Amino acid sequence: MRKLIRPAAPSVLQEHSERWNNQWKELKTNSPSAQFHWYAFEKRSARDWILKDLATMTQGHCAFCDRFTVEPESVEHFRPKSDPRFLHLAYSWGNLYFCCGGCQNYKREQWDEGLLNPDADDYVFDRYFAFDFTTGALIPNPAASDANQQRADVTIRLYGLDSTERRRFRLMELRNWQRTDGMELDEFAYRDFVRER
Ligand SMILES: [Zn+2]
Repeated sequence: MRKLIRPAAPSVLQEHSERWNNQWKELKTNSPSAQFHWYAFEKRSARDWILKDLATMTQGHCAFCDRFTVEPESVEHFRPKSDPRFLHLAYSWGNLYFCCGGCQNYKREQWDEGLLNPDADDYVFDRYFAFDFTTGALIPNPAASDANQQRADVTIRLYGLDSTERRRFRLMELRNWQRTDGMELDEFAYRDFVRER
């Protein structure tokens, strides 16, 4: 999970997120079976309005596993949009991330207070995580405090960041990186893995 800096919210959310949050909260509270659909402004869904800003923030990579992310499964609600505790955050800029389908399939509507987010002020990869460059594994950093290792562990589990597939893809991308010379790091997936080696 690569550190990222979040710019100010896109103007569409600055103007409408409070109203949309209230609208969704009211709907979901009154009809618990209601499904989430993005509200629209000028006939364009809120998701489409913000997608480019989210993608720019991560250079087109998934905010959690760092593979390249393609539509349509691309906006992750960090605090789940259908969880009664977080209905008021469904349109809040700080709760939204560009995210691949793989990570979203693992996480779905799960939540844990220990989950790490890549734009937290104090988030640094090494403080929580470490790689095994032989196997491609992503593990809690053994040198981290117990509390930080627990946070890394729950983040890895909920987003499936150490699945067999992810390990294999990280090793493949490392080989791609080693075969090329002078290409921009952003052209590769799993940039922290590739860069460190
Ligand atoms: Zn991902």
